[in-house]
Formats: sequence, structure tokens, C-alpha cells
Amino acid sequence: GCYSTPRAPGCQPRAQGPGCCPACPVSWLLDPRAWGSGCRPHKDPNEALVIAVTTRAIFNLEEEHQLFLTKGKEEYVKYQQVNEDKPLEQGTAFAFIQAVQFVNEKLLERNPEEKGLFDVIILSNNSPESGMRIVKSAKHHGLEISRFCFVSDEDSTQYLKSHNVKLFLSADRTDVCNALQRGVSAALIFQQEVQTPSTQLRVVFDGDAVLFSDETDRVFREKGLSGALEYERAMEAVPMGEGPLKAFAMHLGKMRKKFSQENSPIRTYLLTARSGRNMGIRALKTLREWGLAIDEAFFMDGAPKGPLLSQIQPHIFFDDGLHNIQGAQDIGIPSALVPCDC
Ligand SMILES: [Mg+2]
Repeated sequence: GCYSTPRAPGCQPRAQGPGCCPACPVSWLLDPRAWGSGCRPHKDPNEALVIAVTTRAIFNLEEEHQLFLTKGKEEYVKYQQVNEDKPLEQGTAFAFIQAVQFVNEKLLERNPEEKGLFDVIILSNNSPESGMRIVKSAKHHGLEISRFCFVSDEDSTQYLKSHNVKLFLSADRTDVCNALQRGVSAALIFQQEVQTPSTQLRVVFDGDAVLFSDETDRVFREKGLSGALEYERAMEAVPMGEGPLKAFAMHLGKMRKKFSQENSPIRTYLLTARSGRNMGIRALKTLREWGLAIDEAFFMDGAPKGPLLSQIQPHIFFDDGLHNIQGAQDIGIPSALVPCDC
């Protein structure tokens, strides 16, 4: 299970001030600062926007993963122990987590008592003995991770609900599908080259089968474009169903509303293949019905999304189309696939 649950003797997770936590087991090292002075209080999991990432999503562990697959667990653990002090390189979701941390700083500048912060958990199939390298890497990179969960071979997604996770990013397709089936917003991360974007957190959502349900996609597959257009016309007054990323987008939107348009450290985008003329109205009506404010919406009418993405330079781009994901990866945009065929 998760290492944050059992409390070791003498371990004070809420302790503040110099020297708190250093004697605690791995998982109680609440954030990098917990090693020394200035420990921060534990974030309130009921008010925080909890994001869980797996180690292979946030760090580049491709070589190590290959070793695990070819040589087995024992060799892998040995390798990770020997290289414990060698920090792991940044993975695809790293910049996103860093940007989330930047938003936290802005939230605390605005209100030092703010409880609605991002809270990042690292979920890992590593055992605690091979996990030390991960904890040390997080510290090395200055990542503020509240909990490290080393869950060995189990289905790690069983802990998502109890940790109140609102977004789960993993490099394992089965993990992502399990999370989606549990009703948690989730997406699949691939190892890729990433350009370092701006500090402002920028998140781009696709529409159909990501923010919205895949109802119109299904009509399109069955009846073609004219069928889909006819369906949209008939359904214009009816809001679209909820897609797998809707819940996360709503929480992000709530956080976004704390800031004004000009000084927001968060910017959200809708980037959909829909045409604005024929299929835009229903999408916009749905957002309004949900009360989800998106900063910018682009209706591409089937045109490639790459050029706009390279202009926006988001920290993460969610899409259910593999061709869109690949196009984004080619230009260094951190991309997350929302599988629609789990
Ligand atoms: Mg789509």
C-alpha cells in the first residue's frame, strides 16, 4: 500500500520548522525541504487538487525499464540501488508538474492561507528499496511531492479514489484504463523530447472524447460527416455528455477563476477538430452549461493542430487521437493520450 498511511513512531507529518521529518521513512519526507528547515504543513487532501503521476511519466526511466523487462526485477533493483545518487532525467510530465508548482507559489502569494493548492503524488510500482533513487531525484530537481507511494506489483490505481486524485498520468496503458474505469481523469504519457515552455501553466484539451463524451465521434464513424452534422443540428440545445477529462478540467477551471484574466498563472485552451460554424455552438453551450470557463477555444475544422500547439507551447496537451498526439510530440509538445478504447 501507500507509504503515507502507516505512521512511523516519532514521525510528525505536520511538523514545521527546522529539522522536521528527517528521521521518517521515505514516504514521510513530505517535500524536498523536509530534509532541512522550513517544512511546509501537509496539504489538505479535501481541498487540494490532487495529481498523481507515475515515475515513468515524470522521469525518464526508459533504460531502467528496459533493464527491468529484459533482466528482471532483481537486476533492476540492484541497478537502482547502485545508482541511487545519480538523479533521473526529466520525463514528459516533468514540465507540467513544475508549472503546477509555480501556480502553487502564485496562489500562496495571493493568500498565504490558501488550501486549494495542487498536491502532487508520485505513484510507483517500484519497491521501497529501489524507490530511494526516485525520492532523491525529486529532491534533486526541487519537486514538491507530498506523498511517494511504492505499491510494488499491485494495481496502483486502487488508491486513486482514497487519495482524492483528480488527474492521473501514467506511462502504462493498463493503469490509465483502470483509472478511467474508476472514474478518475487519466491519460497516457509517452517518453518524448520536450521543449521547455513558459512558466505560466498552459493546458490544452481536445473536445470530443476528452472534455466531451464521444457521442458525436460515434455518429461520425457510423454515418460519416453529414450524419454527424445532422446529429449536431438535432441535438444543438442538448449539452454534450461528460468526457473522461471533464472532472479535472472543472477543478482546474475553479482554480483558474481565483485569478484575473491579466495576471493568471493558469491558461486553459480548447483545441478541437470541430468546425466552429456547424459544430461549435453545441460545444460552447456545453461549456457554459457546465460553468467551465476556458480562456481560448479553437475550432480547427479538421486542420492539423500542430501549428497552434507550437504557438501556445502548453505544458500538456490532452487528445484521444493518436495522430494528434504524434503530431504534437514531433514538435516537442508534452502530450497525453486519453485512450477511447479501454
Ligand atoms: Mg477527440
